[in-house]
Amino acid sequence: MGFLRSIGNAFIRFMYGRNGMDQLNRALLWAYIAVWVVQMVLSAALESVLVAALLDGLALVLLVAVLFRMFSKDLARRRAENERWTGWVWRMKSRQAGAKARHADKDHKYFTCRNCKTICRVPVGKGKIVITCPKCGAQIQART
Ligand SMILES: [Zn+2]
Repeated sequence: MGFLRSIGNAFIRFMYGRNGMDQLNRALLWAYIAVWVVQMVLSAALESVLVAALLDGLALVLLVAVLFRMFSKDLARRRAENERWTGWVWRMKSRQAGAKARHADKDHKYFTCRNCKTICRVPVGKGKIVITCPKCGAQIQART
């Protein structure tokens, strides 16, 4: 037990001031595992040496990225990367939730402003109308 504990302590000392596992690293690790699974599932079908080599290369790049980010001491930069990643995931999730809500809403139609990407909501059944974007004032012709 003492031996294991001293290894544990050494590891904790080693990891002190390093990035460790953050959300981005966890995602990279999952991507790495996914590549391995794909490789295993397709191994029989992978007659193309090129595809197999590409998957090998991709797995290696992911693993190196995980290890590099885990042991990195440049915490500011790693944190910024992680924030960009979590921000992107959050945007994707909220976009998905928003699309679902808009799909369920039968009383309104939604148009995306071509100018500023704002989503404009208009009631259904008004015929052909011109929508003025509330954010940038651009006009959208739409049929409701
Ligand atoms: Zn607009």
